[in-house]
Amino acid sequence: MAAPPSNPSELARETLRLLAVRRIPPTPDNYRTLYNEISGTKDVDAFPEKPLRALAAALPRQSPEQMRLGRSLDNALRLQSWDDYQGGLVDCITALSESQKLAWSELIGELLRLWETRQSGLTQAKKREAIDHILASSATNADTLFGRLQSLLRSWAAAPPGEATEAPLPAAADGPAGSEGAAAAGNQSAALLAELRELFAFTLETAIATQLVESPALVEETRTLAKDIRRARSTRELQDFLTRLKRFAFKLELLAEDQAELRTSLLSLLRLLVENMTELVIDDRWLFGQIEVVREIIQKPLSQRALDDAERRLKEVVFKQSQLKHSLNEAKEALKSMLAGFVDQLADFADATSDYHDKIERCADRISAANDISELEKVLAEVMRETRTIQINAQRSRDELRATQVRVRESEEKIRSLEKELETASDLVRHDQLTGVLNRRGLEEMFDKELARANRHDTLLCVALLDIDNFKKLNDTLGHEAGDAALIHLATVCRTTLRPQDTVARYGGEEFIILLPDTGLADAVAALTRLQRELTRQIFLHDNRKTLITFSAGVTQVQPEDAQAAVIKRADEAMYQAKQSGKNQVVTG
Ligand code: GH3
Ligand code: MG
Ligand code: MG
Repeated sequence: MAAPPSNPSELARETLRLLAVRRIPPTPDNYRTLYNEISGTKDVDAFPEKPLRALAAALPRQSPEQMRLGRSLDNALRLQSWDDYQGGLVDCITALSESQKLAWSELIGELLRLWETRQSGLTQAKKREAIDHILASSATNADTLFGRLQSLLRSWAAAPPGEATEAPLPAAADGPAGSEGAAAAGNQSAALLAELRELFAFTLETAIATQLVESPALVEETRTLAKDIRRARSTRELQDFLTRLKRFAFKLELLAEDQAELRTSLLSLLRLLVENMTELVIDDRWLFGQIEVVREIIQKPLSQRALDDAERRLKEVVFKQSQLKHSLNEAKEALKSMLAGFVDQLADFADATSDYHDKIERCADRISAANDISELEKVLAEVMRETRTIQINAQRSRDELRATQVRVRESEEKIRSLEKELETASDLVRHDQLTGVLNRRGLEEMFDKELARANRHDTLLCVALLDIDNFKKLNDTLGHEAGDAALIHLATVCRTTLRPQDTVARYGGEEFIILLPDTGLADAVAALTRLQRELTRQIFLHDNRKTLITFSAGVTQVQPEDAQAAVIKRADEAMYQAKQSGKNQVVTG
C-alpha cells in the first residue's frame, strides 16, 4: 500500500478523490473522517467555540449560584478546555438537582438550624442583615428567593464553627454579653423569634385546631405542639419539634383524604337513595317535591347557599305536608266512624223489623184464635200501633241514613282535596303559582338570608323593585289572560337574564323584587339595564301580537344593619321617581 501523502494540499485532494470514488456525500463530517483516515491522525473534534459562546450568553445569571456557574463556563470557554467545561456542567447539574431536592420546608428547617448555630465571624446581626437584603431584593420571585437563600445557607454552613455548637436561642433578657450593638441585635432577634414562635402557636391553635373538631385526638396533638413551640429554646428542641410537626402534617393529609372519600361515598349513597325513592314512591306524588330538592343539590357542586336553601325548602314542605297529613288522617277517621254508625243503624233497623215481624205473627195467631169481636179489636189496635211505630222508625232511619250519606260524600270530597293539596304543597309554599318565581313569603326568607350573609361576609347586596309600566292598559286592551302571560314572560326573562345567585320574587300584582348579592350599585343598575334590553329582544307575543313590556325600577344598596322594610321602602321610593320621570327607567335610591 502506498504511503499516505504528507503535504496538506495533497491530503485534501486525495480526500476529495476518495469521497467521489466511494460515493460518500461530501459533508464536513465525512470529509474530516476521511481526511483523518488518510493522514492517519486521530479524530480530534475542534472545540466548538461559537455555539458554546452562544449557549453561555443565554445562561441565566440572576442568583449568585447561577452567576458562579456562568463564570466557570466562561472561563472554560476562554481556555477552550473541554475538561473545565465538563466540570462546570457537572457542577451545575449537581447544584440544580440539590436545589430541586431541597424543598421550602427543608430550607426553612436549615435556616432555623444555621441561625442558631454559632460560627466565628457570623453574628446573628450579620445573618439578619443578609436575610433582610435577600428578602428585599427577591421578594417577587420565589425561585430567585429560594436560590439566594440557599446560597446564603451554604456560605453559613461553610463558615468555621464558633465556640458553642448548640447555643440556646437568644432570649431578650439573657442574651450573650458583647458590645452594645451586638446585644441590641441579639435582643431584636430574640424578640423576633419569640414573636414567630407565638405566631406559629397561634396558627396551630386557631387556624388548624378549629378545623379538626371531629378528631379530638388531633386537636389535642395540635394544642400540645402549640405549647411545645412556645417553650422550645434550644436547637435540639426545635429539631425534635420539626420532626413531630412533619408527622402531624402527614396525619392531617391522611385525614383530609379520608374526609374527601367520606364525602364522596355519602354523596353517592344519597344519590342511590334518591334514585331508589323515585322508583318506590310512584304513587306518593307528594314526595316528589322533596326528592327533587335533594336531587338538585347532588347534581351541582356542593355549596353552602344551595344547602341552606334546600334545607329551608324541605322544612317548609315537611311542615306543610305534616299539617295536611294530620287533617287527612282526621278526615279519614271521621269517615270511618260515620260508616260504622251507618252499619249500626242498619243493624238496629233490621232488629226492629224482625221484632215487628214476630209481633205481627203473634197477632195473626191471636186473630185466628179469636172468639169474639172485642178480642179482634184489641189485636187490630195492637197491629196498628206496631205498624205505626215501625213506620216512624223506618222514616227516621231513612232520614238519618240520607244525612250520613251526605256527610260521607263531603268527607270523601275533603279527603280528595287534601290529598291534592298534599301533592302540590311543595310548590305552594314559597313560589308564586302564576309565574313560578318566589312569592312574598319566599322572598322574606331569602331576603333575611341574604342580609345576614352580606353582614357576615361584609359583601355588597343590592335590591331592585320593578313595576311594569301601564299594565292596566295591557290588561284592558289584550285581556286579563294576556296580562297573566305578560307576567310569566317578564319573570322568565328575569330568571334567564340574571345570574343564578340572584333572587327574583313577585312582590305584588305587577311588581317584582330582585336581590343581587355581591353586587355594587353601578353593577346592579347595569343588570337592570340589561334586563330592559333583553325585554326588547325577547318581545312578548300574545295571539301573534307583539307587545313591548317595559318597567320602571328603583335600585338601592343595602347598608349594614338595614332592615328589610327600610330597604324595600328606599327601592319603592326610587321606583316612584322612575315613574315620575317618564317610566321605563332605572333610578337609584
Ligand atoms: P303604572 O305604569 O303607573 O305602573 O301603571 P299600571 O297600569 O301598571 O299600574 P296600576 O297599579 O294602575 O295597575 C296595575 C294593574 O295590574 C291593575 C291590576 O288589574 C293588574 N294586575 C295585578 N295583578 C294581576 C294579575 O295577576 N294578572 C293580571 N292579568 N293583572 C294583574
Ligand atoms: Mg303597581
Ligand atoms: Mg304598574
